Amino acid sequence: MAEMFHEEDADLAPIQSKTVAVIGYGSQGHAHALNLRDSGVNVVVGLREGSASIAKAEEAGLTVKSVADAVKEGDLVTILAPDQVQAALYNEVIEPNLKPGAALLFAHGFNIHFDYIKPAAGHDVIMVAPKGPGHVVRREFEAGRGVPVLVCVEQDASGEAWPLVLSYAKALGGLRAGAIKTSFREETETDLFGEQDVLCGGLSRLITTGFEVLTEAGYQPEMAYFEVCHEMKMIVDLIYEGGISKQRWSISDTAEYGDYVSGPRVIDEHVKQNMKAVLSDIQDGTFARRFMEDQAAGAPEFKKLRAEGEKHPIEATGRKIRALFSWGDEVKDADYHEGSV
Ligand code: NDP
Ligand code: MG
Ligand code: MG
Repeated sequence: MAEMFHEEDADLAPIQSKTVAVIGYGSQGHAHALNLRDSGVNVVVGLREGSASIAKAEEAGLTVKSVADAVKEGDLVTILAPDQVQAALYNEVIEPNLKPGAALLFAHGFNIHFDYIKPAAGHDVIMVAPKGPGHVVRREFEAGRGVPVLVCVEQDASGEAWPLVLSYAKALGGLRAGAIKTSFREETETDLFGEQDVLCGGLSRLITTGFEVLTEAGYQPEMAYFEVCHEMKMIVDLIYEGGISKQRWSISDTAEYGDYVSGPRVIDEHVKQNMKAVLSDIQDGTFARRFMEDQAAGAPEFKKLRAEGEKHPIEATGRKIRALFSWGDEVKDADYHEGSV
């Protein structure tokens, strides 16, 4: 059984006695900076010159400095720039300005685990990884709840890294939901596996393939969209609430029987072997290298794949349908503009 931590397992004092420099003010950055600030922590946000995020952070009442100046003040530096820029940012700006003994905190283990960032021995290296997007981390905190987090310590230079990481997790709101103890290796490899095989890669491909099969068979695209995409949320909500069993309890017996007999025909042994191959590329660093090399070259492969994804016919059908119905208004994020990602 995994070791878990809750509100009563941590004290806010260690993090409240420190200045936290949050580098980056994107999805995770804004949530960490604001939740910590609202938990009584002294926060300074570090951003590069000309960053569009500066105005947003200042409007939220936060102090914003250059990355170098924020790092100079930080007793703890939270690195929340995108994974692919963290190593250059660390080597060029963060490391030369780090206070002796300052702690380094990450929300994902990619750069530490794959050795793109190699902190000197005197720094605590810790992680609080929320198991949800940054905008949900902030939304839940404001609602008095929290998103579960993973916590781990890679390097305990101070001997106080555990109380510190738990204190940070509490200030972020994560302990309201609960924290699971893990390692940088386990977090990194399972996070990449989850997003590639199931949550993002697997799901996007399952939906678009289902859409293709129905439309190629002559069914109306709007019908296909409802069947293979729109209803997904309601199914996932049931699984989220009560597991796969609750979902099967709620659907019709016809649907449940179809689940048992046809699910294994779609996701067969071959798919399992493919998942294992993807896991192996994650574990041996093949995926990390491919991603970082493409990014270093200006991300040609990444940009081509993103453009191709946006052109898939399901996107045009979805936009049309969402514009006609009211559920699109339920959740609005100011930074998201449909069709422009
Ligand atoms: P975002 O892409 O949302 O963050 C971008 C922020 O970083 C912006 O404020 C941007 O400012 C700034 N930034 C970009 N490049 C630089 C640079 N070279 N120097 C300084 N600042 C820069 O990142 P995420 O929040 O998605 O990811 C941050 C970390 O959190 C990653 O390690 C990720 O794996 C992890 N994580 C993310 C989750 C999520 O919900 N997205 C979930 C869990 C973990 P600007 O470009 O305006 O200068
Ligand atoms: Mg991830
Ligand atoms: Mg049905």
